[in-house]
Amino acid sequence: MSLGHVERFKSERPIIIVHGGAGAWDVDEDTRRRITDFIEKLLVESYELLMKGSEAVDVVEYAVSKLEDSGIFNAGYGSSLNIKGVAEMDAGIMIGSVMKAGAVAMSRYVKNPIKLARIVMEKTDHVLIGGEGADELAKLFGLEKREINESINRRYKDALNKKILPPYYRKNLEIIDRVISLGDTVGAVALDIYGTLASATSTGGIWFKLPGRIGDSPIPGAGFYADRNVACSATGVGETIMTISLCRSIALSYRYLNDLYKATVESFRELEELFGGNTAGAIILSSLGEIIMYYNTKGMARGFISSSLSKPYVNI
Ligand code: ASP
Repeated sequence: MSLGHVERFKSERPIIIVHGGAGAWDVDEDTRRRITDFIEKLLVESYELLMKGSEAVDVVEYAVSKLEDSGIFNAGYGSSLNIKGVAEMDAGIMIGSVMKAGAVAMSRYVKNPIKLARIVMEKTDHVLIGGEGADELAKLFGLEKREINESINRRYKDALNKKILPPYYRKNLEIIDRVISLGDTVGAVALDIYGTLASATSTGGIWFKLPGRIGDSPIPGAGFYADRNVACSATGVGETIMTISLCRSIALSYRYLNDLYKATVESFRELEELFGGNTAGAIILSSLGEIIMYYNTKGMARGFISSSLSKPYVNI
């Protein structure tokens, strides 16, 4: 039995799916509307680029960089902070047709980690660059610097103050969870008019993580992956996703089972047997135009657009 919520669609290319993270998404109606509108608009813009002939990799980079800039989600400007109050961001990008990947981990300097991941993919001989090396690379290529986000800093300080409350203030601790976990990791997968798939994922990681902690998002095959047949972007507790290489597991299962829905459910079943529910979600797209959005958390901000829809499908 899978513990998750699954949505599946089939469509003609081009297609783009985005997510704004799996999590509690305990938000009021206004916030829900604001997030839904933001994703809808982003999908329309991204789809126009695909229709004009942009390649999947350009469009997933574009979509994720906009999600990073929004400040609404836990990535880029909106990144969560580690236990010392510092943003250490992870991101990865991959092109399915050539199976080229680039990623950055623990980057502190750059405004758009996804752009830096693309530089790693295209301008270096490496796949993953972390820490100071990533920051130096961003400066070398003249990428913009991330501004300090005062509202995130306030959230960090508020939570820190409340966390030192005696444990019998249980309700207050629950409120902190709501204060702190507004948005989550972001990701996009796309199939362009040429039939090429690409995937991109970006995150600030998990609130109050230890300095130096790296999640699944910059690990190819874990938080992001694309080959000729499938593209995937995952979200949730990175330690669970990377342990079973979730995205690659879905892609390999698809190769053997020839059924994207079964491949997804089987891979999540393994994750859930090990770690339980309330752990992860993913968006998955096949070269045949099959779309799957799966999460075993309370919600996942998600949406897609394709030629078979008159307007984007968005839900949280
Ligand atoms: N997967 C991310 C990480 O563990 C977090 C998330 O998706 O919210 O870093």
